[in-house]
Amino acid sequence: MATILKPNKENLREMRKFLRLGELVAVPTETVYGLAANALDPKACQKIFTVKERPHNDPLICHVPDFESLEQYCETNPFAKRLAEAFWPGPLTLVLPKKSIIPDIVTAGRDSVAVRCPSHPIFRELIEGCDFPLAAPSANPFAYISPTLAIHVQANLGDRIETILDGGPCHLGVESTIIDVRDPKSARILRYGALPIEQIEDAVKRRVDRPLPHQSGMSIAPGALPKHYSPRTMLELRSVPVLEEELQKTDGSIAYLLLRKPSHSSSSNIHWLSENGELDRIASQLYSKLRELDAAGYKKIVVEEAPELGLGRTINDRLRRAAFQ
Ligand code: AMP
Ligand code: MG
Repeated sequence: MATILKPNKENLREMRKFLRLGELVAVPTETVYGLAANALDPKACQKIFTVKERPHNDPLICHVPDFESLEQYCETNPFAKRLAEAFWPGPLTLVLPKKSIIPDIVTAGRDSVAVRCPSHPIFRELIEGCDFPLAAPSANPFAYISPTLAIHVQANLGDRIETILDGGPCHLGVESTIIDVRDPKSARILRYGALPIEQIEDAVKRRVDRPLPHQSGMSIAPGALPKHYSPRTMLELRSVPVLEEELQKTDGSIAYLLLRKPSHSSSSNIHWLSENGELDRIASQLYSKLRELDAAGYKKIVVEEAPELGLGRTINDRLRRAAFQ
């Protein structure tokens, strides 16, 4: 079983040593827990694919301590800089033309690389002492629900990795927003994420393109596969709120996952993601609730869609993929 380590100075030093030797470490970020490796070491990155059973056509995000360090790894441009100034450190991933130092395995052979500077204080402390970027996809088996607690990583990958750095619950709870800025004139969101697209547009005072609808087998972003982030239990997504009458009638074999606390019904199969429908709270609770319900042996999980704006787009994007059959 993997050891869950407290993030003290000594352990962080050990983890850096581990990473330098080409080993994997599960680490907390403000989005979800990541499975980190030295991004300049192809053998170490190969271990990520093996442990996650991740297909090799799914590229990894490289994590860096700041925008300045990007020069070593990719071509930057003023638009990328502007976004980084507005949102780094934070949950925004930039796709930029890569330099040759980044191994092909990281980018799945593409000539672009995805880069992000996380804000989690423990991750920052870890990476500031590393002289290499960290490739770190979510620390879960491919296509399962991402982990937002150290014990989630332990439950899924505990027998495949040695160490998990405990940073407490991930504060945002959904993955980063990915934006393709290779050509600033046609910047496009590739994946909805923890940073709402409206905030990006406000900051840059212009519209950015939305993700393209999925084209089977040709998607640029495998995180954009129709089935992803999925529990094993069947998930039924409702585009309108579940009525109290339905809740009153349930027999307990179906779990209800509501956006907000219901006013009357209470029964052990009725769960909610927030008191009053706050989107940031819903996003931060989503994966841990799905995991909890997935483990509880229900026949089905019925879940409500969020309003389609701000973080609601990200929540719905994840729910649609989780519900895809
Ligand atoms: P995650 O597994 O949450 O770390 O997300 C990694 C995702 O980032 C991949 O599945 C892709 O969707 C996206 N990504 C990484 N690198 C690139 C790239 N060079 N171009 C486009 N998307 C990328
Ligand atoms: Mg993932």
